[in-house]
Amino acid sequence: MAEELTNANFIHDFIDEDIAEGGDYAGMTVHTRFPPEPNGYLHIGHAKAICIDFGTAEKYGGMCNLRMDDTNPTKEDEEYVDAIKEDIKWLGYDWGDRFFFASQYFEKMYECAQELIKKGLAYVCELTPEQMREYRGDLTTPARSPFRDRPVEESLDLFARMRNGEFEDGKMTLRAKIDLESGNFNMRDPVIYRINRITHHRTGDTWCIYPMYDFAHPIEDALEGITHSLCTLEFEAHRPLYDWVRDNVTLPSKPRQIEFSRLGITNTVMSKRKLRMLVEDGIVNGWDDPRMPTLCGLRRRGYTPASIRNFVERIGVSKTNSTVDYAFLEHCLREDLNESAERTMAVLEPVKLIITNYPEGKSEEFEIENNPNRPEDGTRTITFSRECYIERTDYMDEPVKGYFRMFPGNEVRLKTAYVVKCTGCKKDENGEVVEVYAEYDPETRGGDTPDGRRIKGTIHWVDANNCLDAEVRMYENLFTDPEPDTGDKDFLEYINPESLRILTGCKAESGMKNSKQTHFQFMRIGYFCFDKDSTSDKLIFNKSVSLKDGFKKKK
Ligand code: ATP
Ligand code: MG
Repeated sequence: MAEELTNANFIHDFIDEDIAEGGDYAGMTVHTRFPPEPNGYLHIGHAKAICIDFGTAEKYGGMCNLRMDDTNPTKEDEEYVDAIKEDIKWLGYDWGDRFFFASQYFEKMYECAQELIKKGLAYVCELTPEQMREYRGDLTTPARSPFRDRPVEESLDLFARMRNGEFEDGKMTLRAKIDLESGNFNMRDPVIYRINRITHHRTGDTWCIYPMYDFAHPIEDALEGITHSLCTLEFEAHRPLYDWVRDNVTLPSKPRQIEFSRLGITNTVMSKRKLRMLVEDGIVNGWDDPRMPTLCGLRRRGYTPASIRNFVERIGVSKTNSTVDYAFLEHCLREDLNESAERTMAVLEPVKLIITNYPEGKSEEFEIENNPNRPEDGTRTITFSRECYIERTDYMDEPVKGYFRMFPGNEVRLKTAYVVKCTGCKKDENGEVVEVYAEYDPETRGGDTPDGRRIKGTIHWVDANNCLDAEVRMYENLFTDPEPDTGDKDFLEYINPESLRILTGCKAESGMKNSKQTHFQFMRIGYFCFDKDSTSDKLIFNKSVSLKDGFKKKK
């Protein structure tokens, strides 16, 4: 599906018109912003917004501000601010010195509200939240607002006293005077300030009144000289209010809001609230658990910035909300790692292979290329001796149809080393294979047969006398249901109990101990990366994505 999407971007079409001669922003530098609320970690949905905001500025040689949208004083935290910055930098974007907090503008917003009151465009209202709901009206009944005609002086005075803390929380609000009959309920005299005694993470207890998002956002944008305020579709019905504030308050510029669709991905959840529940309930091991759709989780899983930017580019920008197949995200990662990741051999479920005709105590070296796609990445030396580890699944007593790996009597190539002929195995009392036996053909050094006889199977291996133990963490989707939080489903009922499987006693090439690389292709298995907990004494790998392309297969 996503492969066929073009990367046509209607936002760019709008901007082209705007900055062209005669357009509303002719001759102006395109200026966007990314406004995260610092109440959680960024996720792949935010990555879409980041790529659109910063990418659009980049395309037009403009600027993009980073602004913490902290007008709502609850649950904001310095930890999140730092993490948000780190994630954006990691994606490869830079806001330069244009880093702001919406709370910086509280005083200015207060003045804007006063201006509206003076113009007869805002008033202090004393309806309780229940009354407010009751008086809201419906499509055929206009709203009622008994305080609407309160004299300007009285509203000004009450608003000042709201600020001074003379009234308890919820007792009064400031409302914009717009249109009680509007078919758009956001325009039925919306609340623009409320009393809320919560300590703010930056302004402390300076304020006990806080502006509502719809009032604050256009002011923030205009004060920063934003030309194009790009946001998600749920704000479409709020645009008339955005424009109303922008046009009725004296502000230095007139930004334009443009909405695009939100990104959803199958088999995961995306709202910060739900992600926080997963963390707080201990269902995952933190915000950066490799199963999380957060940017720090994806990074730990082995996602590269290029793969994520490429993914966002290819899903395109539209006005229709859509859920993209997780397999497409994986496809983008696989493509990137196929080019860039160094190859290595690792055995995840090892069984010992003994080459009975190879001299005891002997060891020899082989040169193996690091990346067949990039000869410039060079080669490395691996060792071979009488005992190796191979995958348990690479041996069968009786081959099934199409099985060309180890079974008694069959010849198999040990990648880059020798062709060996399987001669049998030893089992324990439970019938488990504990050793596999083979004889090597000394004439096949490097893996080629001098007489040209065909060897159908090639398997990976590591030298049992020169290898490292490793822990490998295998991941699957966090949710079994493709859309775990649609309708009235409880997403917590669809947790995949097999989303994490930890393999210990895996065997890795000894050179991995000192590797400078972070991302690898384990030959024949998939792409893996070092986990942040890995040390040279205890190697830990995360599985990033399998070799097989689930996306292509489905097509
Ligand atoms: P959430 O529901 O996950 O908490 P949010 O919209 O409250 O999301 P913000 O921190 O306010 O999160 O978002 C910052 C910016 O990122 C906003 O412009 C928002 O529109 C955008 N954004 C958030 N989620 C997505 C998504 N899934 N797809 C695209 N853009 C998103
Ligand atoms: Mg939000």
